[in-house]
Parts: sequence; C-alpha cells; structure tokens
Amino acid sequence: MHYTPSPNVAELEESATIAVSARAKALRAAGRAVIDLGAGEPDFPTPTFIREAAKRALDAGATRYTLVEGIQPLREIIAARANERLGVTSVTSGDVVVSTGSKQSLFNSCFVLFGPGDEVLVPTPAWTSYYQILALARARPIAVRGHRENSLKVTPDDLTRAATPRTRGVMLNSPTNPTGAVYSLDELRAILDLAESRGWWVISDEIYREISYESEAPSLLHAVAGEASLRDRVVIVDGVAKAYAMTGWRIGWSIAPAVVARAICALQSHTTSNASTLSQHAALCALSSREQSETAIAEMVAEFRRRRDAAAALLRAACVDFIEPRGAFYLFIRVPQRGDAAEPGAAFARELLDTRDVAVVPGTAFRTPEWIRVSYAAPMDDVLEGVRRIVAQLGR
Ligand code: GLU
Repeated sequence: MHYTPSPNVAELEESATIAVSARAKALRAAGRAVIDLGAGEPDFPTPTFIREAAKRALDAGATRYTLVEGIQPLREIIAARANERLGVTSVTSGDVVVSTGSKQSLFNSCFVLFGPGDEVLVPTPAWTSYYQILALARARPIAVRGHRENSLKVTPDDLTRAATPRTRGVMLNSPTNPTGAVYSLDELRAILDLAESRGWWVISDEIYREISYESEAPSLLHAVAGEASLRDRVVIVDGVAKAYAMTGWRIGWSIAPAVVARAICALQSHTTSNASTLSQHAALCALSSREQSETAIAEMVAEFRRRRDAAAALLRAACVDFIEPRGAFYLFIRVPQRGDAAEPGAAFARELLDTRDVAVVPGTAFRTPEWIRVSYAAPMDDVLEGVRRIVAQLGR
C-alpha cells in the first residue's frame, strides 16, 4: 500500500530505547539467549500492597471515567508532597494533572508551552523522546552538549552560549537518563536563575528522583523554595513508574502554574482523557502508604546500588571511560572511535548484539553517537555477564 506520511510525522523517529527492548524481546522469543541491558525499566514486580489495593479498587468499581486531570485524592497527595519538599503550601491540586505516564506529561507540557519558531535547550545527552516531543510541538530542540569533566551535565554558561532570542525553555532531567548524573542544588539554582532572568520555561523531568545513591537528589522544587514567584516558570514532571516499579501502569503527572495546568487538561481532554482509573487508584496507594513505599523503594534502590557498584568496579578495572552514576540505573560508556564510523556507539551496539548477545542502547538515541547506554535494571548475573562481554568487545 502506498502511504505518504503526513507532515506531522514525516520527520518522526521511532523511540530508540523502546526499539532496542523490542528487538531484544523478539530475539529472545526466537530462542536466542540475549542479555537485555537496553530496557530502562525496573525488573522488580510492583510491590504486593499496591497490587492488592488495585484489586480492591477494581472490585469497588474503579472502572469508569474520572476527571480528565485525575482523581482528587491523588492530585491532593501529589500537591501535598510537593509542598512538603518546598516547605510551603502554595502548590494545590489545581496545579496537578495526572497523565498516562510521565511521557504524556512531558508531551502535554511541551505542546502547551512551545510552538513554531520556538527553540528549547536540551542538555545533551538526553532521553531520546525530548527531541521528538519538541519537534511534534513544532518547536526546535537545541542540543546543548555537556562536558565530559562535568559528567556531561550542562552549566549556565553552556546554556547561555546556545541561547538565541528565540529560546523559550530548557528541559532538565536529574538524575539524568542516560548518564545517571545528578545536578546539585546549586547547579539547579544557577540554571533556574538564568531561566528566570531570560523568561524561559523550565521543564524538570524528575522521574528518577527517588533512585539516588549518594543522598537525596534535589528537585527543582528545592531550588524554587522560598521564592514562590519562580514557580511561575517551572513545570515539574514525575510519576510512579521507576521508583515504584510501576512502568506498565502508566501514571505520571505534571505540576505547573494553574493556568498552564488548565491548558494541559484541555489538551488531554482531546487525547486520552483521564489516565486509567484503576492505575490512578494503584498510584494513590503507592503515594499514601508511605512507610510501606519507603521500605519497598529502599530495597529496590539498595539492589540497584549493588549492581551499580559491581558493574562500575568491572569497568574501572578495565580502564573503560564511563560516567560515574549517582542516580537512575544507567551506565553511560564511551566507545573509542574505530575506523571512520560516524556513529561508533551504534556500530558497537550492533556488533555486541550480533556477536555477544547483549542489547544496549546506542548513544545516537541521546545525540551522543560515541557512547552507549547500559541499563542495570536487570538481574545481577545478567548485569555482570553483560558488562564482562562489553569489556571484552571493547578489547580490554
Ligand atoms: N525511559 C525508559 C528508557 O529510557 C523507558 C523506555 C522509554 O519510554 O523510552 O529506556
């Protein structure tokens, strides 16, 4: 059949992170013993108490539409948690819109804030979907490369150099996918100050905030604290997927100034309407059962830390160049240039899968073609064996 893609999607690229996982799954189904270090998805089941709450909600009739923006108690607890972090009471449930995963919250936020001619700074490397989501909003993603000596994080100077009169915003993500780097409170404040002085929006994707190894990863809300007016330019995006091992439930949210939240809600009213009712009740249980959740998260983070430490030790022993991960569950590894490959990371990832049965995501997905991303959200044995094969493939 002949199909001419609409201009809406003519330039659209499929999600590379999802494509790698899909390929690993297909190869496994075909009988190959592939080690999948591609998927950015916790390998733990959703904690039992959350699953039980969902079953109860189902039996109690949580099967119908809710408000587009989500059930009131869930939005209230999201706002309450944000206030707790801010040390204020200014965030209300009216600022919160619950969506079908934080990816939809990011899409909604970009779509209502940016448009044709707008440039949005994307600290790079960054999660593959930022670039595509901004393009779908008809804005221009401007990749701003972080420096190796700063764990590939960007500074206000880097952002200033990339800014033009058309710059309208910046996409932050800490802990960062794909590097695992974490911005300090001072670093966040400095970027927020710059954004404030230029009148830029800051979208802060904090989906990995609770997966942090050294100390609590600061939220952009911490940087805003005390200066409520700063929040007027900030959208926080978060969700239950990573910290609570609830990827498939598809619950994320945005916290934005009320007027922006209303625009997000109007947009969502024409796309998905409310996020799955049942999943909202599961998320409500996750957020409101504080003690149980804290225990479950601490256990998962401890296991991620064990894997990180073991994998990083192997890489260090082999003198491999990688970013020391302080949060999330990724190792970002630099692949030395071999021959004249324009995308050494992609060539390496292909070879690794073909000859050593290990799936990783090529750095091209994050606009850094000389790197690869290795997820350690996989069983310890897989992580260790996968990293050993990567080291061997690197010729170390
Ligand atoms: N965010 C995860 C990743 O980077 C999940 C897949 C996706 O939605 O991109 O692998």
